[in-house]
Amino acid sequence: MMNDLSRPERQHRAIVNEKPAPVLQSKRCACGKKAFAKQLAQHGKCEACQSTDRAAALLPEDLEILHHMLGATPHHAQVRWGFRNEYLVNRRDRASLERLAAAGFVLAGNHLLQLQYFHVTSAGCKLAGLSAKRTAVALSLVARP
Ligand SMILES: [Zn+2]
Repeated sequence: MMNDLSRPERQHRAIVNEKPAPVLQSKRCACGKKAFAKQLAQHGKCEACQSTDRAAALLPEDLEILHHMLGATPHHAQVRWGFRNEYLVNRRDRASLERLAAAGFVLAGNHLLQLQYFHVTSAGCKLAGLSAKRTAVALSLVARP
């Protein structure tokens, strides 16, 4: 058998190097909501505030398209919102969809010839005012690769 003198030494070092388990310290964002310290250090605000900021950077026509993509418009009953979730972008709307995608409210989908489909994300559904149930329906319509 090998003389393994280093084992107690290794054990000792392991104990010396032992650190307490990381604690996800809860702090508060400026809005008053609890947020993780790491998140505040990285972004300066909670997830909800970041989402609000991203939404504030959108133009009115961007939001119009977002609502249209989900059928979340006044001429559809609110209980049916999210019955569709796609938009085939044309050149005129391209900038809007790019702003929405950059903000995380839509995702680019398949190409159709020179055109491209976009689909609303769960953050986008929330922004459009869909209930959790209708959001689940809208997201289920998006074919996953
Ligand atoms: Zn906040």
